[in-house]
Amino acid sequence: MYCKICGSDNVMISLFSQCICKKCIDEITGISVFDETYDLYKNLIRILLGYYISEKHQLNPVN
Ligand SMILES: [Zn+2]
Repeated sequence: MYCKICGSDNVMISLFSQCICKKCIDEITGISVFDETYDLYKNLIRILLGYYISEKHQLNPVN
């Protein structure tokens, strides 16, 4: 399994059913809203959340 954000195969954590490495999680959780990469990570979370929601939708097509 590889990190969905950086592609590394370090320690993996599942975030919205996607594999993310410990380094990226630390980066995301520790980032300041004033950081220039904040918008980048915000968009990544939006994409991951989109995958998560569509997966749930496919698992339960009746809803
Ligand atoms: Zn990563």
